[in-house]
Amino acid sequence: MSKAISQVPFAVNEPVRTYEPGSAEVKSLIATYKQMWKEKVEIPMNIGGKEVKTGEKVTLTSPQDHQHDLGFYHKGTMQHVDDAIKAAMEAKEKWNTLGWEHRAAIFLKAADLIAGPYRDRLNAATMIGQSKNVHQAEIDAACEFIDFLRFNVEFMTEMYAEQPISDQGIWNRAEYRPLEGFCFAVTPFNFTAIAGNLPTCMAMMGNVVVWKPSNNQIYSAKVIMDALTEAGLPGGVINMIFTDGKSTAEKVLAHPDFAALHFTGSTKVFQGMWKLMGDNIHNYKTYPRIVGETGGKDFIMVHPSANVEAVATGMVRGAFEYQGQKCSAASRAYIPRSLWNDVKKVMETQLASVKMGSPEDPSNFVNAVIDKNSFDKCKGYIERAQASKDAEVIFGGKCDDKKGWFVEPTVIETTNPKYESVCEEIFGPILSVYVYEDQDWKATLKLVDETSPYSLTGSIFAQDRYAIDEAYKALENAAGNFYINDKPTGAVVGQQPFGGARASGTNDKAGSKMNLLRWVSVRSVKETFVSPKDYRYPYLG
Ligand code: NAD
Repeated sequence: MSKAISQVPFAVNEPVRTYEPGSAEVKSLIATYKQMWKEKVEIPMNIGGKEVKTGEKVTLTSPQDHQHDLGFYHKGTMQHVDDAIKAAMEAKEKWNTLGWEHRAAIFLKAADLIAGPYRDRLNAATMIGQSKNVHQAEIDAACEFIDFLRFNVEFMTEMYAEQPISDQGIWNRAEYRPLEGFCFAVTPFNFTAIAGNLPTCMAMMGNVVVWKPSNNQIYSAKVIMDALTEAGLPGGVINMIFTDGKSTAEKVLAHPDFAALHFTGSTKVFQGMWKLMGDNIHNYKTYPRIVGETGGKDFIMVHPSANVEAVATGMVRGAFEYQGQKCSAASRAYIPRSLWNDVKKVMETQLASVKMGSPEDPSNFVNAVIDKNSFDKCKGYIERAQASKDAEVIFGGKCDDKKGWFVEPTVIETTNPKYESVCEEIFGPILSVYVYEDQDWKATLKLVDETSPYSLTGSIFAQDRYAIDEAYKALENAAGNFYINDKPTGAVVGQQPFGGARASGTNDKAGSKMNLLRWVSVRSVKETFVSPKDYRYPYLG
């Protein structure tokens, strides 16, 4: 294989299945869901390619039914963190020296397995464990993860092909070495694709990885690990551990061989880890690479020239799909007084038809929030808004935790642009609306830019091209992913590389070559064909 400059298959986005009522694909997915719902799963960790069972069993339940026993996972201790680091370091040399075509083949095979025989299982695990409806599971767990795998293989080869120029008599080369040491991937609950991408993109570049998924995503993490194993990923390249986040970070980030952190999750956790890395900087053999994609307070800014139906649809989809638990979810909307009554009417009509319940019924648009913490947090914001003189709950507001963690899609209208629900990340199905006077358009753009410390996603809705241009310029640094006349969610790999700046992260754009560059350390090689044999240059005479 290394005796050819191979070309990898051209990456295209995985077609999204539509799961129309009565279709064979929806029947198959729901049948898999029902089967997995009733079987009791046992989920071991995976260290050095071996299943590790500790006997400390943690029961798995589902957000849509917190009393339902799905089985259990094996919780690990700090000894397992040590074991995972050791297994990674032992796997390092063989993995590093394997030709890149073999690495590419493993991840391309994993993509095909997930597109085919694993698709229903990965989607169903995401529906059961993370409470996503069929569409949300399909665009995340299946399609986005498949896209990450296929596009990253293509980006890797594009990167390898980028080579320096050479003068006469010499040959310059760039070698894209994996990092020295091991990498650490810490992943969130809300996207199965992110959980899969963070460790695999580092491994793809020749690195070895310790991966700690969120406790709330362990069911789909198991399916990812099963698919990678079947695809032929050698033991020790990605080690999946179920350990306490804080103590694991303290141990891993103090290790001399720690070389990189690839994190997605909340801002506070990321900042805590960055601080730990600072404290340990003198211990490391190499300066660590740090990539973190974190929180957001994503906006929809509406100009008086906007189309009312497009705005209302952007609000309903942008704020309430996956219960607002996307880092990109619209959570604050700024609407001009002249449009508000019409936007409100269309939004209320649309919301009145939204059904909430278990993903087992595909007609439910909204499902449960992830856990009790999230439920209590959402309920707190709603209750405080109901009691506040600055705010009014104009839609939804009911919370029901009898069976699952259900929070109705809720709209809060506030007269205070700095009201708490406009400024803080809630990560639930709550949208705050601030109505501005049409003549205050310019000042409101400034307000949008300055209201939150985040800068992840945002949308501008307008038909007036000058207004679009003005918002585009005024909000240059307010969002890493900026949308014009569309909702601020749903970035597609290869099309809208994703990430934000300010408190939202390091903006290293998941699903792009920019991200992969972080996981290599380039060696520049100069070879001289006819070496000089005398130190004297011509100018010396
Ligand atoms: P979280 O920060 O609670 O958890 C993320 C991961 O960190 C989990 O694996 C968790 O176990 C671990 N962790 C928790 N405390 C830790 C600690 N003290 N030290 C080390 N690790 C620790 O986040 P979450 O609730 O799983 O996910 C939601 C958050 O993720 C939101 O803030 C959301 O905006 C953000 N997010 C951002 C993006 C993005 O691309 N910007 C994408 C998805 C989610």
